[in-house]
Amino acid sequence: MFTETIERLRTLGASLDGSLLDAETWRARHRFALLWSGGLTLFIAVFSLFNPNRPEQWAYVAAALLTLSLAQVRAWSRRLRAVLVAVCFMAAQLYVARFVGNFTLGPLAMIVLTFYQDWVPLAVGCLETLAVIVVAWVDPGFFSHSAAFAREDPLTGMALRGAAILLAAFLSLAIWRSGTQLARDQLTGMLSRLGVERVLDREIARGRRPAVWVCDVDNFAAVNRQLGARTGDAVLRHVASGLRRTAAHLPGGALTARLGGDTFLIAERDGGEIDAVEAFAHRIEIHGAKLLAGSEVQVRLSVGAALAAPAEPAAHLIRVAERNMRAAKGRGSVRVVVDRSSDRIVDASSSLLSSELYAACERGELDLHVQPIVALADGTPVGGETLARWTHPQRGMVYPGDFLPEAEQDSALMAVISNTLGNTFHDIVADFARRYGPGWLPYGLSYNLAAVRLRDPTLTATLVTDFERTGLKGTAARVNVEVTEGALMDIEHGVAEALASFRDAGYCLALDDFGIGHSSLAHLRDFPLDTVKLDKSFVQSMGRSRIDRAVVEAVAEIASVSGLTVIAEGVETVEQRDMLLSIKPDMLAQGWLYAKAMPVAEFEAWVVDHKRAAVA
Ligand code: C2E
Ligand code: CA
Ligand code: CA
Repeated sequence: MFTETIERLRTLGASLDGSLLDAETWRARHRFALLWSGGLTLFIAVFSLFNPNRPEQWAYVAAALLTLSLAQVRAWSRRLRAVLVAVCFMAAQLYVARFVGNFTLGPLAMIVLTFYQDWVPLAVGCLETLAVIVVAWVDPGFFSHSAAFAREDPLTGMALRGAAILLAAFLSLAIWRSGTQLARDQLTGMLSRLGVERVLDREIARGRRPAVWVCDVDNFAAVNRQLGARTGDAVLRHVASGLRRTAAHLPGGALTARLGGDTFLIAERDGGEIDAVEAFAHRIEIHGAKLLAGSEVQVRLSVGAALAAPAEPAAHLIRVAERNMRAAKGRGSVRVVVDRSSDRIVDASSSLLSSELYAACERGELDLHVQPIVALADGTPVGGETLARWTHPQRGMVYPGDFLPEAEQDSALMAVISNTLGNTFHDIVADFARRYGPGWLPYGLSYNLAAVRLRDPTLTATLVTDFERTGLKGTAARVNVEVTEGALMDIEHGVAEALASFRDAGYCLALDDFGIGHSSLAHLRDFPLDTVKLDKSFVQSMGRSRIDRAVVEAVAEIASVSGLTVIAEGVETVEQRDMLLSIKPDMLAQGWLYAKAMPVAEFEAWVVDHKRAAVA
């Protein structure tokens, strides 16, 4: 009960702390506040000149002038400068209340102070209100210079004034709170993505190298679904406070944030050594496993970590850690991946890459090459996998491994790329079907679908529209969509539904890269698959490792029983081919032993040639 209350208070306090304004916004607001206080100071100075018989008024003018000029000292902290503005307001308002008798200035000044989004200057303003009320109560004669209303009933006047000020303050607080939702997460009170990026960017500008750990709750969607959203929220809060406790062990000053959904972040302002980063990542993972031990909800965390490269922007650093976290999800037991390279491409060049890629899509520089898929037994062509290629005006041919991982960080860009390639793909399939008939390639062509794309709710509709636009729907032309196992794990984002709708639309489903990542045989049973593609690393090590060979045999066996097509990827040597042949002669194969990926026209000629040779 007590800890819960403390936690609530902390959340409330955190959600109201808006001291995270970026430098530019703060400067603009400070200028605005200076303008106000400058105007007031001018007013009281001129008013005093015209009423020279009250010498004590010059004390207020002097105080206002002094604080106003000190508030401009750039070397001082923002908070101090904001407090100086508040004191300047205080002096000016006391003057106005005492010598002029105006009571509306207070609320207005309070609104201006809330612009700093900092409790301290606001509290100074509130104290001033309180002080005026107390003075009016203790010594009504103090306001004898002011207007009749205040003179006759100073206490009521001051109370009214106080109420108005408080109302204004609370109204602006409400506005402020909604504004800071960006910097703070409302559920947990942790920093938001934006908030933590700002803080870390500040540290980086000071020459520090922060370390970040991105932690994601495994199977959180299942918790939400089975136990309801309220329990889900409680679990998230619980995880959040557990992570806070874990983060408190960091020596270099820890920050915690919720990046969204069930993804959290711990950051250390000054990261130190990569080994320490890795050790701490394991510690988080272990704490995560203990977090709800014994209760009915079991959580596990997957952790991805990275240490900032010199001058690397925070947004990029966090993206690297997120990528590692996703890779960690693919691990069976120890779900930790740490990025050890500190010479990563920094954001400047990656955002350059993004803008280049947008342009590349528009200029038609992105294209699909096709790698033949053959029957293992006799090498006859049965289909092809389309693979993205970017013909860069300066760099020449760029391979997907050099731009897709970066592009996947930007879902809008990835949607543009996928739509471009999806269009091209369907055009190729339709063109072959029209000219050679739908059964020309019995296995058909396949299209790689990035895991991140599966989360896009409009994806199915886009693909199906392509399918119908090109007149492929209802024909016998076979079209395959390849997805990786990692994508299947992402059930939280409705992947199962997306896969089912592809099936309904007439696509066949292939499980790509089987043998690395999750490698769960259960996937072969649980998902509506047509094809399983054995990963090339597997195919290539099966000659050396009896375990790998046994897995290939097991997959072949399951495929035979369940009617799945098996494609061996990355077949480079005759030995590999022969070994596969001895395991399952009706497999399909793909690899440099047969052909590399090539432009569509070349692929077409290759198929025609090899079909002819097979007949001969
Ligand atoms: P993947 O889907 O596993 O594609 C097979 C990769 O293995 C291709 O690399 C191919 O050129 C390469 N490969 C084929 N045969 C051999 C071989 O015998 N030996 C070796 N060492 N490699 C071989 P590529 O074209 O560089 O593509 C890399 C990855 O990029 C693909 O892996 C796929 O995950 C992704 N990708 C490619 N095109 C697309 C696309 O259009 N969309 C999406 N979302 N991803 C794509
Ligand atoms: Ca593939
Ligand atoms: Ca593959």
